[in-house]
Amino acid sequence: MNARVLPLAEHGIKKRRVDRFAIQVIRTLNEAGYHGYIVGGGVRDLLLDMKPKDFDIATDATPEQVRGLFRRSRIIGRRFRLVHVYTRGELLEVATFRGPANAQANKTCENSGRILSDNSYGSMAEDAIRRDFTINALFYDPLAEEIHDFVGGYEDLKQRLLRVIGDPELRYREDPVRVLRAARFTAKLGVKTDAASEEPIVEAGKLLANVPPARLFDEVLKLLLSSHAAASFAALQHWGLLHQLFPQLQCNSSGVVNEGPLLKQAMANTDERVQQGKPVTPAFLYAALLWEPLNKRASHYQEKGYSAQDALIVAGDEVIATQCKVTAIPRRFSAVTRGIWSMQPRFAKTQGARAWRLLNERKFRAAYDFLILRSLEDESLVPLVKWWTDIQELSHEEQEKLIFKSGKSGRRRPARKDRPTTKPVANQDDC
Ligand code: ATP
Ligand code: MG
Repeated sequence: MNARVLPLAEHGIKKRRVDRFAIQVIRTLNEAGYHGYIVGGGVRDLLLDMKPKDFDIATDATPEQVRGLFRRSRIIGRRFRLVHVYTRGELLEVATFRGPANAQANKTCENSGRILSDNSYGSMAEDAIRRDFTINALFYDPLAEEIHDFVGGYEDLKQRLLRVIGDPELRYREDPVRVLRAARFTAKLGVKTDAASEEPIVEAGKLLANVPPARLFDEVLKLLLSSHAAASFAALQHWGLLHQLFPQLQCNSSGVVNEGPLLKQAMANTDERVQQGKPVTPAFLYAALLWEPLNKRASHYQEKGYSAQDALIVAGDEVIATQCKVTAIPRRFSAVTRGIWSMQPRFAKTQGARAWRLLNERKFRAAYDFLILRSLEDESLVPLVKWWTDIQELSHEEQEKLIFKSGKSGRRRPARKDRPTTKPVANQDDC
């Protein structure tokens, strides 16, 4: 299989936009008699004039041969072994060309056709056709300044078209995560999905149930924490995939989740924060995504006689445990999600020691941001939002005066040592 080779005059990639370390690694490979290319998202993003997230390298050298060339490197990976090569603060992934997906020798499959492990090496052409979409299968040689295209990815990129390499249905079955990648690329790159590649997506989405929850959690983060949350969310909805990822959400007969202003705003806020360079946490997004199922469960417990607070706690545990079966949520995040939820009923009390404690909670700011979101769906919360917004503008003395003004709470003011020395800060940042 021959590649179309595009010279600099045609592709126009400016070498200075390519990571220096990647070029250096490729030069070292060349000097040792091997080939090395920048592949995947790095090439695609350069051609789209976007800033590549990373520069992955593909080579004909085996992991052991690569390891032998770079002192600071190590072989990693079980599903597919590759080499991490380090330099000051930077890490590059160098992968050996992979062989055909149907080479039975080193491959194990489950009944649905999903490939579980596969470690066979192959030629550059074979490596190209194993990749997911044509626009992700371009090889860039920064020394010769040439692009090698085995699958028509360059033309597709020019047409802004996302096309699966090979038979889409089969490729999604091999790895259902590819449907989520399709949603992500349409959102991030503004490409359109080619009709044949789009057709099987809804059905293939059902196979996500067979994918390990930890892998799905990683994909959810890539979808929703990369400044394209709103567009990714819309793409997921379009193909009924959001419901596959969050089955506790109510959906209509076509698998489209009922999405209210709370969810829409949560996505918009996330994008805004990422664009402003502010940290974002999956804990907050999960709090928003699971708020509706949480409330349903909590009502059930309240009917059984639990207090609003206790009902939220018990229901929160259940809702998170159920979600973990689909997209595992590491504890450090789920603990924050629970905290955001369990603080919500506490906002109703604006006076006395309890209100004071709430204002000084470590996660106050995240919980307050969440209260704002809730007020988009529940107007009765608007005055509360205003109260908690205004109080944050005041000095400590003024805050204290306001919270303890009635003196009716029957509690003493906090001892001086308990009083905060700084104003509450945005806690969403440190989780
Ligand atoms: P970005 O890094 O911007 O999210 P990317 O295309 O680089 O996008 P990665 O997850 O970094 O995505 O993967 C690097 C490359 O590996 C892809 O461009 C693609 O060629 C290949 N690849 C990744 N995941 C799959 C998959 N599930 N099936 C087939 N090929 C894949
Ligand atoms: Mg990448």
